[in-house]
Amino acid sequence: MTTSAKNQNGAREMVIIGGGPAGLTAAYELAKLGEHPVVLEKRDKVGGLSRTETFKNFHFDMGGHRFFTKAPEVNRMWREVMGKDFLLRPRLSRIYYNNKSFHYPPKPLNALWGLGILQSALVMLSYVRWQLFPFKVEEAFEQWVTNRFGRQLFLTFFKTYTEKVWGIPTSELKAEWAAQRIKDLSLKTAVVSMFLKPGKKLKTLIEEFHYPRLGPGMLWDKVRRNVELRGGHVYLNREVVRIERSGNRITGVVVDGNGQTECIPGTDFISSMPVSEFIKKLDPPPPEPVLRAAQQLWYRDFLTVCLIVNQPNLFPDNWVYVHAPTVRVGRIQNFKNQSPAMVADPQKTSLGLEYFCNEGDDLWSMADTDLVELAKREIATVGLARYQDVEEGCVFRVEKSYLVYDADYRDHLDAVREYLGTLENFQTIGRNGLHRYNNQDHSMLTGMLAVRNMLYGETNDLWNVNADMELS
Ligand SMILES: Cc1cc2nc3c(=O)[nH]c(=O)nc-3n(C[C@H](O)[C@H](O)[C@H](O)COP(=O)(O)OP(=O)(O)OC[C@H]3O[C@@H](n4cnc5c(N)ncnc54)[C@H](O)[C@@H]3O)c2cc1C
Repeated sequence: MTTSAKNQNGAREMVIIGGGPAGLTAAYELAKLGEHPVVLEKRDKVGGLSRTETFKNFHFDMGGHRFFTKAPEVNRMWREVMGKDFLLRPRLSRIYYNNKSFHYPPKPLNALWGLGILQSALVMLSYVRWQLFPFKVEEAFEQWVTNRFGRQLFLTFFKTYTEKVWGIPTSELKAEWAAQRIKDLSLKTAVVSMFLKPGKKLKTLIEEFHYPRLGPGMLWDKVRRNVELRGGHVYLNREVVRIERSGNRITGVVVDGNGQTECIPGTDFISSMPVSEFIKKLDPPPPEPVLRAAQQLWYRDFLTVCLIVNQPNLFPDNWVYVHAPTVRVGRIQNFKNQSPAMVADPQKTSLGLEYFCNEGDDLWSMADTDLVELAKREIATVGLARYQDVEEGCVFRVEKSYLVYDADYRDHLDAVREYLGTLENFQTIGRNGLHRYNNQDHSMLTGMLAVRNMLYGETNDLWNVNADMELS
C-alpha cells in the first residue's frame, strides 16, 4: 500500500516520471481532482511509444496505434479529451506471403482460396491432426499457435513474422505473449465468428477502431495541455537520472535537462520509465539480487523508415505484415488509411516501414540514408510502391518498444516486484514500468488506479490489472 507524507508546508508534491499514456493519465486524473502533479519527460514531446512524429508536415505514428478498449473509463477519457477529433476508422490488415495478400487475423475462406487446393488440404489435415493430438504443454509460442491453428498454418502465417519481430526462434518465445496478444482466437473461433456469430466481435478480430485525427500523439498533446491548464506541470527534455531513497521512501529525483541538473523533491512518486532502469537508478541501490534480476529483463527495439510516395493511392490496408523472408521489413503502415489528415498532401501517400532490431545491431546503427535506400528497395520488392515514386524519407528509432518474455523473465520480475512493494510512497505503472506487453488502455488503467491508491488509500494491485476490467 502506498502511504504519503506532506511536505514542510503541509502540502503533497506528486512527481510522475514519464509523459507517455500511463504517466499522463495519472497526471490528468490528479489534475481533475485539484492536485498539481509534476510530470518529467525525457523526450521533446509527450506520448512515449504512442507519440506522433512529423516530417515535412506529414505525421507519423510509431507503429499503427488503433484505439480500442473494453474499459469504459478509458473510453470516457478518450472521448472527453478528443471530442470530434476522434475518428472511427475501418480496419484492413493483411499478410504479404508468397507474393499474395491474406487477411489478418486469418479469414478461413480467404486463406484457403489464396493458398490453393493442395496447400489448403494440408492446412486442414494439419489442423485436424493438432486438434486430435495437441502439444500437452503450451510453454512456447510455437506450441500455443500450433495447437490452435495447426502446424501448417503456423508455418505459413505466424513463424517468419514473429521471428522478425523477436529476433529469436518461435520455439524459444514464451506462449504467454501469444496468449495475451491473440487470445480468444483459433481457427475454430475464426470460422465460428465468420459463419455463426457475425455480430460478436472478438478483440483480435475487430474491424473498426478509433484514431485521433493527427495520430495518437494528438491525444497526448491535448492531455498535456489539459493538465497544465489545471495547474499541473509537464516538463519536456527532463531525464530522470537518479532516484533518491531514504530507507523505504523515495525523497526526490535528480533530473538532467536543458544543460542543468536539479533535484525535484516530492511526497508521492509514480514512475512509468522501464522498471529495469528505475532499479538501476536508485540511490542508495537496492540489494544485489534485485539489481541482478532487473538487469536480466530484456527488450526488443524497432525503427520505422518513413517514406513519402508520390502516388495518391497505393493499397487499402492500414498496415501489411510482411512474412516474406526475402526482405527485412516486418510491417508496413499506410498512414492516410488511419486518418486522411496524416498526410500534408492528399496526392501523396506516407508509409512507415518497420524494422525490428536490437539497440546497437546492424539495422539500428545503419546510417539513415542507407536505411531509406533499403526501404525504397524493399517497398518495390514487395510490389506496394515503385522505387522511383518515393520522394523523401526519414528514420525514427524507438527503443524498448517490446518486452521480451523469455524463459526466466517471470522469476526476475517477481524479484523486482517484491522489492518495489517495500517502497511506501512509490508506484510503478505502464508498459515498461510493469514489464507487461500491453496496449494504451492497460497503461492508462494502471495510471488511474495508481491515483486511487495514492489519494484514497485503495489497495489495487497494479501488477494484476486486466485491460478488460471495469473500474467500480
Ligand atoms: C509498434 C507498436 C504498436 C502499438 N500499437 C498499439 C495499438 O494499436 N493500440 C494501443 O492501444 N497500443 C499500442 N501499442 C502500445 C502502446 O504504444 C503502449 O501501450 C503505450 O504507449 C504505453 O504507455 P506507457 O506510458 O506505459 O509507456 P511509454 O509509452 O513507454 O511512455 C513512457 C515514457 O517515459 C519516458 N521516460 C523513460 N525513461 C525516462 C526517464 N529516465 N526520465 C523521464 N522520462 C522517461 C519515455 O520517454 C516515455 O515518454 C503499440 C506499441 C508499439 C511499440
